[in-house]
Amino acid sequence: MKIICIGRNYVDHTKELNNPIPSEPIFFLKPDSSILPSRTAFYIPDFSDEVHFEVELVYKICKLGKHISVKHAERYYDEIGLGIDFTARDVQSELKSKGHPWEKAKAFDGSAVISRHFFPKSHFTDLNNIKFSLNQNIETVQNGNNSDMIFDIDTIISHVSQYMTLKMGDLIFTGTPAGVGKVYEDDVLKGFIGDKEMFKVNIK
Ligand code: ZN
Repeated sequence: MKIICIGRNYVDHTKELNNPIPSEPIFFLKPDSSILPSRTAFYIPDFSDEVHFEVELVYKICKLGKHISVKHAERYYDEIGLGIDFTARDVQSELKSKGHPWEKAKAFDGSAVISRHFFPKSHFTDLNNIKFSLNQNIETVQNGNNSDMIFDIDTIISHVSQYMTLKMGDLIFTGTPAGVGKVYEDDVLKGFIGDKEMFKVNIK
């Protein structure tokens, strides 16, 4: 399986990092080795002094497909969960300034938190109005709603599938809203879809 991540998909987050609003989806990959096993602490890696949390809705692909049209894209995902796209922001800034790929900043071990539980699509009354949030200790630091995505999931699936075949079990991280920030030792991060706690991660 592969993990596809969309960058700069919420206007408020794109602005907080002083990035331009994209005219088509920006995507990058995380390898399966980046998945943080559930109930495992996240250890801040030695190569970064500025690891940021980015809470994101995660969509699970249920069907093999390529060159998928926007109109048919909904058939290709069946479940929605929540994750964190941990990002070594200092490393990423350096890579960006050199025009280099982002993998060292985005694809390292433990950088993909994925909820154990995924909701079936039928759980949601409106697939384009899903609220999610992240708590850092006792403070809510990120609040998102997928209605604010620049590119919705159908557009993302269609776009990505023009370049790479989507396979059953692939995951798509759909970008983060504003409020990203640095993690510190002993932090506890909790992610929610609506009121439902989806994951809890201890930072070491
Ligand atoms: Zn992200």
